[in-house]
Parts: sequence; structure tokens; C-alpha cells
Amino acid sequence: MILLKNCYYIATFNDKKEELEGYDILIEGNIIKKIAKGIEPPNHKDVELIDCSNHVVIPGMINTHHHMYQILTRNLKGVQNAKLFDWLVYLYPIWARIDEEAVYYSTLLATAELLKTGATTTSDHHYLYHRKFRGDLMKTQFEAASKSGIRFVPSRGSMTRGKSKGGLPPDEVVQSTDEVIEDTLRVIEEYHDPSPLSMKKIILAPCSPFSVDKDVMIETAKIAREYHLVLHTHLAETEDEDRYCVEKYGKRPLALMEELGWLGPDVYFAHGIWFNDEELKLLKETDTGVSHCPTSNMRLGSGIARIREMIDMGIRVGLGVDGSASNDTSDMLGEVRNAMLLQRVKYGSAGLTAREALYLATRGGAELLHLEKLGYIEEGMGADLALFNVNTLQYAGSLSDPLAALVFTGYNHEVDYTIVNGKIVVRKGELVSIDEEELTKKVNKISKKILQSS
Ligand SMILES: [Zn+2]
Repeated sequence: MILLKNCYYIATFNDKKEELEGYDILIEGNIIKKIAKGIEPPNHKDVELIDCSNHVVIPGMINTHHHMYQILTRNLKGVQNAKLFDWLVYLYPIWARIDEEAVYYSTLLATAELLKTGATTTSDHHYLYHRKFRGDLMKTQFEAASKSGIRFVPSRGSMTRGKSKGGLPPDEVVQSTDEVIEDTLRVIEEYHDPSPLSMKKIILAPCSPFSVDKDVMIETAKIAREYHLVLHTHLAETEDEDRYCVEKYGKRPLALMEELGWLGPDVYFAHGIWFNDEELKLLKETDTGVSHCPTSNMRLGSGIARIREMIDMGIRVGLGVDGSASNDTSDMLGEVRNAMLLQRVKYGSAGLTAREALYLATRGGAELLHLEKLGYIEEGMGADLALFNVNTLQYAGSLSDPLAALVFTGYNHEVDYTIVNGKIVVRKGELVSIDEEELTKKVNKISKKILQSS
């Protein structure tokens, strides 16, 4: 049991958009039990009291797109200035060396960064299954997520179209359709827990139109619908992708998705930068969602997604930090700031407000991943919260609007506390279950090993 006493500011993101000052939040088990002023501490030996008089409390943020293994190859000099296709072709052979240990520690580090910057739930999109990879990749990722304490919704990713079939990736990192389908069914049976506040959910995510065959997309969609899972893939990220699809399939990426049965409320695409007017209408009509990844889009020079227009049209949008080789960090609050700023480059100073940007990172993410009990603060909802201490140097002078201060003002995006499923996983800025120095050393060592084998 946790009692957050006298919260300086709570942004609920509930239907009424309530923002509360001086309220307490009582957490019982993994649920927000009560929100009121002056809650008496329950007469219970296990109750932890936290003085929140300096804190802005927001719903735990939800990261909807990542490739955690890329932690090991971030900031590589050879592709610091490359665009997507060149960047991928350079990196695929290096990523091919990623083994089980690399998967474990990169997942641990990515989830650690996310928890420290206010995310409580994350997806991950691992699509690279090397022919020589031994071990249960999904199990390894769940072990790392369980160690850090994050709520984890990874995808079973896939690539089947290697170079010899006209795709971008080398043949040794792609699988056959049968292998993909067999393992997809296995991981669903073994790991997927559909309960509302599950810590382990699975989504399905063939990689992209230029690395998978049509049959995988079709089969994956069938499985997703049978098991009520969410579908995800990269789409409309670059103009090169538009050209590739027109050349190979005779149609633009979204038309291809329509043909393959990949539109609907159970589908969301990463990026969605190059959708035209007709395509935006189709997204709206079919209730298909978009994961916006502003930092990656800027980093790779991919373009600016039409998020302002998508929001106005009622298209569902969430936020993703994207892979760590194109961001190159898992800074969730930083992503919110970049989302706000990037829309203003395209649409002017009212392009996106701080509150809208935070909405994408909270409720927007919950809507994409179908997490009905998460994304906003209300009695009965899941107890996933991020607490920022704003009585610090970086927020001084900004407290006429404490919530927007998080997005406009700070330079260090770290929380004071993160609570996931009713448990404190970051306390006074430190991860509870991870030795940060040790993890840093370990990841640097693995990264060096992977890069040296080239
Ligand atoms: Zn991506």
C-alpha cells in the first residue's frame, strides 16, 4: 500500500481532463484506490507514505515503438548521418551478431532508461532472428523486463524477405514464413496474459513492406484476430519506401496494407509520415492508429508526420522513442518535448500543446495497445504513475503551469519516483532493482564486443 500525500499537482488525463492540486492518492495492490484531499494513512504495517508536495504526478507513460537491441549500436559514427535505407543496410550485419546475452542486457538498459524518464509500459519490436541465434528471445526479454519492473508488451517481429528475394536485410537474419508462424503461436501460448493489468502481453509485428513477404502479413493478421492481439508494423516512414512499394507491389504502402487486411482498430503503424489526404481519411474510417516517433524522424531526416491533422481528424496517435540506433536514447519525457516542438516547425506555434503531447504519451499509447485500465489517473485504474520533483533548479521560474513545465522547461527528464503496477521501481531517482553502474559497464562491454567482431 502506498499513500502519495499532498500532491503538488496531478494531471489525470481522465475524460474531464481534471488537474488537481493538494490531493492524495492511495494505492492498494496494483490499483488506484482513492483520490481525495486529506486521506488518513491506513492503519496497516505495510503502508509507505511519500510526501509529494514538490511533485507533478502524471499517468505512467506508454512507449509504443522501440528496438531495444539497438542500444548496443547507438551513435555509430559510420551512420550518424545516414538516411533510413543506407542506415539499415550498414547496420544489419552488425546486428546479426546479437546473442542472448546482448538481448537481455539491451532490454534491461532500455527499460531502465524508460522507467527513469517516466514510462511505465513499453512495447518492443525485435524482428531480427539470426539463423545462428540460440535461445528463447521472447523469454529473455520478459526476464529483463521483469527485473527492471516495467510493464512489457513486446511484439513478435519478423523478416522473411532477404536480399536474394529483393528485400533489404541479409539472408542470414530472415526466417521462413513457417518458422515465423510456428514461433508466433508458441510465444502467444507461452507468454501472453490477456488480463487487464497484465505485465506480459504480446503484439504481432512483421517488420516492414521491404523486409517481409505478403503471406507473412496475411497469416500474422489471421493469428492476431484469432487471439485478439494488436498488429503493428513500420509504414510510410520514407519516400524511398513509397517508391519501393510502387515498384514491387504496384501500390503505395497503405493500399498494400488494405489489400492484406491490415487496417482496423487493432492495427497501428510506426511513423506514418508520408500519408496523403486520402490515406489519412482511410486511417480515420478504419480507426487505424499511428505511433509517432519524432526524434527518430528528425535524426534520420525522414520527415514530419501530420500529427496535428491526425489529432483533429480523430485518428488515434501514440508516441514511441523508436530504436536506440536512431534516437539514440529511450528518454520518454524527451520524446514528448520533441513531439511538441516538431509539430510547431510544420504548423506554427500552436502546432501541438504540451498537454496534447503528454496525452499522446499516456492515453494515446494506452489506446494503441488496447490497455483499457491504463493511460489516465482515476479511482479503479491501474497504479502506474510517474512523479517529477519540480522544486529543482531546472523548473525554477516555470511553476505558473507545473504540468507544461515538464515539457517546456526541464533539461534532465528523470523522475523522482516511478510506480508500476502498484510497486515503486524508481525511488528518489534510482532504479530499485538494478545496479546502474554495473549495468552500464556490462552494456559497454557487450557493445564493444559486437562492434569489434566487424
Ligand atoms: Zn522502428
